[in-house]
Amino acid sequence: MELWYTEEHTKNVRFSIKVDKHLYSSQSEFQRIDIMESYEFGRFLALDGCMMLTEKDEFIYHEMMVHVPMATNPEIERVLVIGGGDGGAVRELCRYPNIKQIDLVEIDQMVVEACKTHLQQTACDLEDSRVNIHYEDGLKFIRRIEHVYDLIIVDSTDPFGPGEGLFTREFYGNCYKALTDKGILVNQHESPYYKVYAQSLQKAHERVEGYFPVIKLYNAHIPTYPSGNWMFGFASKVYDPIKDLDEDRWMALDIKTQYYNADVHKGSFALPNYVKKLLMKA
Ligand code: SAM
Repeated sequence: MELWYTEEHTKNVRFSIKVDKHLYSSQSEFQRIDIMESYEFGRFLALDGCMMLTEKDEFIYHEMMVHVPMATNPEIERVLVIGGGDGGAVRELCRYPNIKQIDLVEIDQMVVEACKTHLQQTACDLEDSRVNIHYEDGLKFIRRIEHVYDLIIVDSTDPFGPGEGLFTREFYGNCYKALTDKGILVNQHESPYYKVYAQSLQKAHERVEGYFPVIKLYNAHIPTYPSGNWMFGFASKVYDPIKDLDEDRWMALDIKTQYYNADVHKGSFALPNYVKKLLMKA
């Protein structure tokens, strides 16, 4: 008997991977949580049937989400991660000795517990002394914060269900307020390829643009995400991610990566014409 995990990327496109074991399944108050063991991608986390991360390709996503802002401003000390209950973004942040505080705001404690038990590859640094986990809605948490964080990373699910509020004007405006004068906001910014994701990308871009003087998108190849072409948003009050990239300073930290390097950093901001057109329409 063959077991397959299938995700509908559009009404006419499905993505399937062969599964060896179904390790964990539960229904929290927010979403269905599954962790499975696959032949090709190792263990993977799915929320409400959507692929979140796999052991085989999560390094691409988490390295690009963290090292791009960290190499742009190596002075970053206080970081807020909203979402990211699998711990992958926290793991990459913990590799920076100058980071003093990492606040993780994850709405669903069951995601964190499940990943601590079955996905140690990403959850391995959630006990780091600099990490404080808050189990609450990021949209509410950010309302009460002013001028605290040098970097905010929004590692959320897609803009429906619990993640919907993290793609709103109100949320981005509160992120701006919660950042220090040199603050940077990085968010998972959906994908330009399929219509439904391209629309989310356009909406998010338009909403962030309203607050931040510098806003650029960068991309990475994430094999298990819809179309494989995934975007990140880089929004900041002062830093330009290309002009201010401090290559030598980042190299001197001697942080070993499997995907990120300074050339990939610069190249990832080069956008195809169809994506540029999407952003102009926004
Ligand atoms: N890399 C994945 C992606 O791009 O889809 C995201 C991974 S991470 C598991 C997404 C997390 O965001 C989930 O654990 C989910 O519970 C959390 N989340 C969704 N909405 C949230 C909210 N409003 N506040 C805090 N966390 C939220």
